[in-house]
Amino acid sequence: MQTDPPRSVYALIPITPVMTTADYAPLGVARAVAQRCGGSARAVLIGDAPDAIEHACRLGLDAVWVIPPTAGPLQPHQIAEMLADALSSYEAGHYTNDSLFLVAAGSVGEEIAGRLAAKLKAVPLGKCKHFAFDPEGRMSVQRNAFGGRLEMTLDCHEGPFVAAVRKSDEDSAPEIPDTVDTAVHHLPYREPKQTAYDILTQPRAEEHAGLEGARLVVSGGRGMGNDTGFTALYELAARLGGAVGGSLPAIDAGWAPVARQVGQSGKYVSPEIYLAIGISGTPQHMAGIDPHTKIIAINKDPDAAIFKMAHIGVVADWQELLPALTHELDKT
Ligand code: FAD
Repeated sequence: MQTDPPRSVYALIPITPVMTTADYAPLGVARAVAQRCGGSARAVLIGDAPDAIEHACRLGLDAVWVIPPTAGPLQPHQIAEMLADALSSYEAGHYTNDSLFLVAAGSVGEEIAGRLAAKLKAVPLGKCKHFAFDPEGRMSVQRNAFGGRLEMTLDCHEGPFVAAVRKSDEDSAPEIPDTVDTAVHHLPYREPKQTAYDILTQPRAEEHAGLEGARLVVSGGRGMGNDTGFTALYELAARLGGAVGGSLPAIDAGWAPVARQVGQSGKYVSPEIYLAIGISGTPQHMAGIDPHTKIIAINKDPDAAIFKMAHIGVVADWQELLPALTHELDKT
């Protein structure tokens, strides 16, 4: 009797010079989901990846394929191209209609996911959590819709599927098998294919520290009042060795560049500490902060929703508190 091959769950990780724990999230999620469905957990890495290989071996993934690094940084469309090429060609890793491809949630990961789904004729599931399997092995996943106002469950029939994931309590703590010997395969170098059009990018000159990989984020909301308020945030962040973020209204007002927006339609950040100033704490903003991050909130409204989520809350007007704080920091 012919049996179906086990479901393969792939973590797809482009290696960049600044990798954060959020970028490695697909590895842990792949292991946990594969365990749940009795399938195999695999990873495909693009770039010079000793840390990622070590991470994958520690998690007991079944196999890792490494695509050699390119000379320069890759754009999302090139990453999707290389992944599609590798996934379609390597001998050991043939995927099936059951396969699930995972990328790290975030603007880059989600662009890769969409492009990859189109190339592999796979089903794009969007940003998902809670992968579950019924007794017949059919997968269902949960995702938000309408700006987080609705949570829906998708019953997944015919794949393969591509999903963006982030580290969560459920998925980041898989049982680590002690019997698995991860097979590491190095794929031959292939030049990224020429696409039908060129995307020209221009690096933005920014004097301030970037949000990606920051261990401390000082973030401001509408309560900062104007761009002078953000000048105070940049000064505080520089003194503390952190990066500046902002809520959507603050970014829309032009107080900080779009690349600094935190939240559902902005960036997902996972610093150790998130200092939220003049931010009310809407679900759309909080969706951009890793659940393991410690939140310190400064808000003049004692009933602000953010105080329910903050580890430390200070009821104060930032215009009084920040100068005093900066003054104290200057003394140390
Ligand atoms: P407000 O909610 O107006 O809060 C301002 C806070 O500042 C108040 O709590 C006030 O008490 C406090 N304050 C005022 N003055 C002072 C002072 N002097 N000192 C101290 N505190 C003060 N939002 C995001 O941030 N990121 C997203 O990615 C995002 N995506 C969205 C996607 C969708 C589909 C939708 C519908 C909305 C999205 N939003 C997003 C918007 C979100 O719903 C809220 O409107 C937004 O998060 C509110 O930002 P805020 O907290 O800065 O402003």
